[in-house]
Amino acid sequence: MARNTGPTCRLCRRVGEKLFLKGDRCFTPMCAVDRRRQPPGERHLRRPRVSDRGIQLKEKQKARFTYGVLERQFRRYFERAQNSPGATGDALLQFLERRLDNVVFRLDIAESRAQARQLVNHGHITIGGRKVSIPSYQVKEGEAIGWKESSQAREFSKALAASMPRKSVPTWLTIDTKDLIGQVNHLPQPDEIDNTIDTRMIVEYYSK
Ligand code: SF4
Repeated sequence: MARNTGPTCRLCRRVGEKLFLKGDRCFTPMCAVDRRRQPPGERHLRRPRVSDRGIQLKEKQKARFTYGVLERQFRRYFERAQNSPGATGDALLQFLERRLDNVVFRLDIAESRAQARQLVNHGHITIGGRKVSIPSYQVKEGEAIGWKESSQAREFSKALAASMPRKSVPTWLTIDTKDLIGQVNHLPQPDEIDNTIDTRMIVEYYSK
């Protein structure tokens, strides 16, 4: 499956915000945004004026980089959101949140979405006891997400479990920290999604 393979911190510097793509490192003085505020490749004495289109583009890129989705797939999510009932922006965020790699991250099983994606890709994650190795899989209400039994005994999974809890789990999910089984209580509602993405900007960006 296609993914962004370039330097991760450069993505944060590109949008000028911390997107927390690298787990623990993002909370240390090593964070590239904290050290160098300037966008990569630009050496302006004065900050150039950003057009409305530029602001919308930045918001779209922020969402894409946060969830680790390439442009074509992001566009597909947007088209599906347009055809869904309710507000397009809310539906778009729900599609992004329901990705299996995001859910593994939100459940605190992984430290970052990139790590969650790798766990899924390598077949360590199950849904309802069956292995699912597709990071873009859309979770459904009532599904149970956990480790594959053989993976649970491995050193890396034990280390990840030992450092829990690292963050709070959103209300639409629950995790049994003893058996490491997560549950989708219901599909995520807009007020349950923790991010700073302004979806109105994304809708405006694609409407032109
Ligand atoms: Fe972004 Fe984290 Fe890198 Fe900081 S350390 S620039 S928040 S990915």
